[in-house]
Amino acid sequence: MTEATYVIEGATGPWEVVIGLEVHAQVTSNAKLFSGAATAFGAEPNTQVSLVDAAMPGMLPVPNKECIRQAVRTGMAIGAKINRWSQFDRKNYFYADLPQGYQISQLYHPLVGEGAIEISLDDKDPEAATKTIGIERIHVEQDAGKLMHDQHPTRSYVDLNRSGVALMEIVSKPDMRSPAEAGAYLRKLRAILRYVGSCDGNMEQGSMRADVNVSVRKAGAEFGTRTETKNVNSVRFVMAAIEGEARRQIDVLEAGGKIVQETRLYDPDRNETRSMRSKEDAHDYRYFPDPDLLPLELDDAFLAECEESLPELPDAKRHRYEQGLGISAYSAGVITADVETARWFEALLAATGKPETEVAKPAANWLTSELFGALNRLGKDISDSPVSPQQAAELIALVADGTLSGTLSKQVFEIMLETGEDASQIVEERGLKQTSDTGAIEAEIAKVMDANADKVAEYRGGKDKLFGFFVGQTMKAMAGKANPAVVNELLRKALDG
Ligand code: ADP
Ligand code: MG
Repeated sequence: MTEATYVIEGATGPWEVVIGLEVHAQVTSNAKLFSGAATAFGAEPNTQVSLVDAAMPGMLPVPNKECIRQAVRTGMAIGAKINRWSQFDRKNYFYADLPQGYQISQLYHPLVGEGAIEISLDDKDPEAATKTIGIERIHVEQDAGKLMHDQHPTRSYVDLNRSGVALMEIVSKPDMRSPAEAGAYLRKLRAILRYVGSCDGNMEQGSMRADVNVSVRKAGAEFGTRTETKNVNSVRFVMAAIEGEARRQIDVLEAGGKIVQETRLYDPDRNETRSMRSKEDAHDYRYFPDPDLLPLELDDAFLAECEESLPELPDAKRHRYEQGLGISAYSAGVITADVETARWFEALLAATGKPETEVAKPAANWLTSELFGALNRLGKDISDSPVSPQQAAELIALVADGTLSGTLSKQVFEIMLETGEDASQIVEERGLKQTSDTGAIEAEIAKVMDANADKVAEYRGGKDKLFGFFVGQTMKAMAGKANPAVVNELLRKALDG
């Protein structure tokens, strides 16, 4: 546990920032929450709209079991209370892109109750700085469609494809105290959702977006009045919106003004929040239980299946990597931070055909340095890595059995990236094998010593540091192919003997 140290200096001294996030996460499911229409992203406008989504008279909503299942599994993954009895409520509000005239949501009896997410504030050593962020609830609700406004001529269009798609609204407690904590929370939540498979976490496509509640206070004071900045769609923007909004509130308060509880919009181009409307209270929406829907009652078999279907989650995996496989805290943290990376890594371990405890460390080092480096340069994700886990396993095996030195393995990897060929094929065709041929190495050492007689004398006179120079020269003469351990041993003999 670390205590919050983030403060913003105002004219009247330091201020503390209080943050609570409401994250809307689109549930991964083929069909919408109350209709059979498809949910795929990017379809032609209004091609995924059933009569229910268009709110034709007489149409009735039917809950999609898979959406409920995904929300329950998500709740279980954050150790939350699952409510066996929950209910859908109507939230009455005119959304121009939700034809019903109300949104079906859950206010009084949400599907999932209190839980928690542990965040880490130190990438190098994830255990060193952790904090637990409380979750208030997760409820399930319908998304709205999309409006597009055209200037020439002045027209508005509505696309109902997204209308009725299932969302989980994941409401945190006001437990975060800095933009960094909010960023860490969003990344961790996103990781958990992706492991569980209940949301793809794609913020660019809008499948995960955050309403950012911010207030400021003097240390030890009561919570201040908050504002809510709606629909912020990247981690970076959330962090920027918090900082900007906190500063704005401090300026207002220090000038003797008051914060009004309101809904604001974040403008990434100007990096500022703007007032949108004064905040409605729950009673303004005239919530009431939706008479078209029966309460949801979950039975034991359903709950047991949800529980059993959960995968190993990021924290558990990270602990196992560290404690069971001896992987460094940092590598275990970055490999488990995203489910795709963890899967790739585990496919790599499996492909080596060796006990995990034996190969995990070199494999983790290779992945976090060589592969991540290459993907970074190429601007690619691990899911479209140009080398497969099987190809990587072979490369690592060639290092383990001494065929390749570290230097040679980097060369071979570069060629793999360019050509897509396998490591063994490259080694064979280009003669990149490492050699331990003592005769050949000794011959090169003799030449290096002849050419550098002055340095040999200096070394023998006590300048030990020059040893590295001789290693470098010999490796160069051997075109990087000499086994470094053998070079070291033979050089010691030649120089010291
Ligand atoms: P509402 O139902 O009006 O949206 P909630 O009580 O459900 O209000 O809170 C919504 C979000 O606002 C939650 O994420 C909560 O953590 C956060 N929140 C509540 N009070 C504050 C505050 N004073 N400062 C910052 N965030 C807050
Ligand atoms: Mg709210």
